[in-house]
Amino acid sequence: MTADAGSGPVAAAVRTVDDSLFTEDRTALLGSRYTTCGACTFPRQDGCPRCTGDAMEDVALPRRGRLWSWTSQGFRPKTPYTGTESYEPFGVGYVELPGHLIVETRLVETTPSNLEIGMPMELVLVPFRDDDYGWPVHTFAFVAVRDV
Ligand SMILES: [Zn+2]
Repeated sequence: MTADAGSGPVAAAVRTVDDSLFTEDRTALLGSRYTTCGACTFPRQDGCPRCTGDAMEDVALPRRGRLWSWTSQGFRPKTPYTGTESYEPFGVGYVELPGHLIVETRLVETTPSNLEIGMPMELVLVPFRDDDYGWPVHTFAFVAVRDV
């Protein structure tokens, strides 16, 4: 296979804050599901928080969900936050991924009045900081979608 810049999925080349949070192609969050009781966790865990079982499998979480709750992070979080120094406020929310779990996430929207409980949301990757060579490192966020 030859790399063909400008075509095909590019997400796999995207650098992230923690690759273990994502499926290999970076198109979904990677959680775990316990085969004993069906509970899901994100990030992945070695033991089930519900039944303490440890028989788990990786599960790609749904890319779309609904906004469950949110707040606004109006100041730069303290260490160990590693985001850019030039801080911009961002929304923090809980998004319910149907049939799986509610995930705590950064929101792309920064204007609270544009958000409403139950609105459809979709997973995206957003720049979080630059690495030592100036390349962007990404984290996950959810953005409102209107077409579902
Ligand atoms: Zn369990």
